[in-house]
Amino acid sequence: MVDQVQEVKEKTDIVDVVGEFVELKKAGRHFRGLCPFHHEKSPSFMVSPELQIYKCFGCGESGDVIAFLMKYEGLDFGEALAVLAEKAGVELKRVSRLSRTEKEELIEINELVARFYHFILLKHPLGKEGLEYLSQRRGISLQTIEEFDLGCSPESGNLMFNYLTQKKKIDPKLLEKAGVVVHVRGRWWDRFRGRVVFPIKDYRGRVIALAGRIMPKLEGRDLAKYINSPETLVYKKSASLYGIDRAKEMIRETKEAIIVEGEIDLISLWQAGIKNVVAIKGTALTEEQVRLVSRFAKTVLFCLDSDFAGDNAAIRGLKIAQQAEIELKVVNLGSFKDPDEFVRQDLEGFRLALKSAIGIWDFLIEMVIGRHDLSDSGSRAKISRELVPILALITDGILRAHFVKKVAEKLDVPEEAVNEEVEKYLKGVVKKTEVFSRPVKIVKKDTRELVEERILAIALQTGEIKKVLDLTGEMIKTGFIGKVFEEMKRLGDGFEIGRFVDTLPGELKDRVAGLFIEELGAEEEGDLMKELEKLILRLRMIDLKEKMANALDDVEFVKLSKERVELEKKTAT
Ligand SMILES: [Zn+2]
Repeated sequence: MVDQVQEVKEKTDIVDVVGEFVELKKAGRHFRGLCPFHHEKSPSFMVSPELQIYKCFGCGESGDVIAFLMKYEGLDFGEALAVLAEKAGVELKRVSRLSRTEKEELIEINELVARFYHFILLKHPLGKEGLEYLSQRRGISLQTIEEFDLGCSPESGNLMFNYLTQKKKIDPKLLEKAGVVVHVRGRWWDRFRGRVVFPIKDYRGRVIALAGRIMPKLEGRDLAKYINSPETLVYKKSASLYGIDRAKEMIRETKEAIIVEGEIDLISLWQAGIKNVVAIKGTALTEEQVRLVSRFAKTVLFCLDSDFAGDNAAIRGLKIAQQAEIELKVVNLGSFKDPDEFVRQDLEGFRLALKSAIGIWDFLIEMVIGRHDLSDSGSRAKISRELVPILALITDGILRAHFVKKVAEKLDVPEEAVNEEVEKYLKGVVKKTEVFSRPVKIVKKDTRELVEERILAIALQTGEIKKVLDLTGEMIKTGFIGKVFEEMKRLGDGFEIGRFVDTLPGELKDRVAGLFIEELGAEEEGDLMKELEKLILRLRMIDLKEKMANALDDVEFVKLSKERVELEKKTAT
């Protein structure tokens, strides 16, 4: 296994892999781009082809290509390795079938189930009714049915269960873990019965769960209209976005994601040619979903039932959206019941509605005000009470001031009064949420360490190791830098940065690699050599001052003072 990890890494270029997700530009020996792990306007995310590592000088994220995929794609080590192995054409050896992870097994089961229901829908007489419902009542074409692998589960109790346990020899317990069957009073039942079935996929297109809508003829019985797989090892409702596997390319391209509620709305928009759309369950956009979508989009358009925001849960995603600098807008559906009805009856009107979506804050303020009668004096206080928590959610000070003013105008009260209420509210909230503020770890470095670090960085990046060694002599004192210098002395001309970094223990590795890929901010390499000379003088000065402070007698002190005067002259020129 260790060998295979090595093999995969050797056949992989981190620049290619990261380059798929981040726009990288050549910067000297390295590549540079906007960090995908924190929001930034000027790039501080560096990738080194020589060291095969990345490092962000903004947020500190760093690692090798496997670490990048794990972090960026939310994969575990084995999954990231498998992705890279496939790309590199390395066939990973497995000890046995048993060594597959349970996650992989659950995904495989979900895929088998989806395929089974898809077969029933298109090829089996039992799927006829489902097919009629989808194509005639919902206007979904065969092509779309294929694209989304839609299926149908017949009404009879355990057709799928029998197929998978008998034909595919799958353990019922695993089926239960995958959430596709239920065990009731000693019998196994298919969870989805008498429903059209929508496979829910992760953004890589793997089936992780299913959703089912009841067949029309069963409506009205005591059955839920929509059901979902339960949460399993591979499915977390709050973290998944239906359709993301298909929509992500278009979202990346348009930088815009439309969010609808439920599978049918999504499929309907998709079929109408609006493909940058994903669906959530219920009306709350969670933090995890915002994170997922923010990897592809800069703007999110809520295209939901108009009273969605009345639900407090809807605002949960707001905080994180602001952090990710995602712009949130709300689409007005007018008199249409849902986006599905809207696009099917008036596609052009729907496109127009998308274009004229309004900002989330405007929307929320209008909504609250719209619920009350402004002419009633008592309702103003009520409106204010409802709006203050919303205004307090706005993290950008300028933006908040803008909306405070707007609300004050609408309510015809002084701006200061609204502001005061918001401030008061915020103080109360800050106290309650203090636990969330992460303490910032500040490592204080003294001047000597900073100078020595800079010298090391120049040595590593210019490759002028020998010259730097000659100039610094025995002056390097900082622990880890000293160790690196010793190594460089020992290796002499055989020094090669990639191989060298590999020999270092963990923490040292990170620091040295960091110095190697950090931006030195020089226009030309010659500038760095000039800077190096100045740094050496500075280091000598630091050295002298320290010696003077520790001088044992006047003779030594005077001698050092003279040296210092000489050095100062040199520094001045
Ligand atoms: Zn970063």
